Amino acid sequence: MEKKQVFLTRTLHNFALKELKKRYKIEIHSGKIPISKTKLQVKIQNVEGLICFPYDKIDRNLIDNAKNLKVISTYSVGFDHIDIEYAKIKKIRVGHTPEVLTNATADLAISLMLDILRRVSEGDRIIRSGKWLKIYGAYDYVGTDPQGKTLGIFGLGRIGSTLAKRAKSFDMKIIYHSRNPVSKNKEKKLGVKYVSFKKLITQSDIISIHVPHTKETNQLFNMKIFKKMKKTAILINTARGKIINEKDLIIALNKKIIGGAGLDVYELEPINKKHPLTKFENVILAPHVGSSTKETRKKMAEITIKNLNLGINGKKPIYSVGY
Ligand code: NAP
Repeated sequence: MEKKQVFLTRTLHNFALKELKKRYKIEIHSGKIPISKTKLQVKIQNVEGLICFPYDKIDRNLIDNAKNLKVISTYSVGFDHIDIEYAKIKKIRVGHTPEVLTNATADLAISLMLDILRRVSEGDRIIRSGKWLKIYGAYDYVGTDPQGKTLGIFGLGRIGSTLAKRAKSFDMKIIYHSRNPVSKNKEKKLGVKYVSFKKLITQSDIISIHVPHTKETNQLFNMKIFKKMKKTAILINTARGKIINEKDLIIALNKKIIGGAGLDVYELEPINKKHPLTKFENVILAPHVGSSTKETRKKMAEITIKNLNLGINGKKPIYSVGY
């Protein structure tokens, strides 16, 4: 029997490719990342399985073009790049990789928060540019303690809850907002308090975003919100870039409307050294590496393949969205 065809928009770990090759006829895009829409359209015409990444836009048009497609397996927990509703109509399974990347992403949010509070990257830049000329005294180069500060978690799901556990050990006051409060038991265990969105943005010293990118959260953090935040507030975003209106964020930082930002994700990725965000000392920039540890990335590859194997045979992926 002829092997089913699978297309990957980028290569994966060797163990993953080996496993895929045993079962399928695979083709891997090796050119410019992300693959162009026109090329992807051609490549997925006859395949039954697609492995994609968060920067591959899998829209209605593309889905219509893939006549034999049974499963889309994304190497990410976020699935805002896939038209889930349309995939459902077309009875195409969609799998994603939650849970295994929760710790890594929460750890990155904590790293960004501590880095900006204690000015770690800024200090690194001072040394590397030869500007550390005297031992710092009482008033020089002071940071801010996390202890006693209010951390506002926007979206107390898997990553938000794990961040709360981490932040508790820094003796922070933790408030959160999601559309639905979690159980009282969970709130007690995590040491968190449910507040309205308005209270979250006005009371927090640090706001960390952990909601998915959806129609409701698109550009939600804009000038109107920045103006309501504390002047010293720090905004951390390890969720999706489009949740923040970047132009407004740059104005807010320039006009000192907020205190700083720690970002892993951007409206358009990758960003380069000419991006306006790079000029702020009070902004830490990470290159979309929330889930990027060798342990996590390996687990993500394992789940991506399991999801693909199930979906290509018409079964529900272990972590399934939509159909
Ligand atoms: P999750 O478990 O589904 O948690 C999402 C939380 O957001 C839930 O508590 C949900 O609660 C809340 N929420 C959803 N829509 C909301 C809205 N409109 N307003 C307020 N709250 C809302 O997801 P997760 O695994 O923690 O991941 C969160 C996001 O992180 C992912 O979607 C992904 O985009 C991003 N991520 C990024 C990286 C990276 O590399 N930087 C890595 C992993 C994940 P309710 O339903 O009650 O509102």
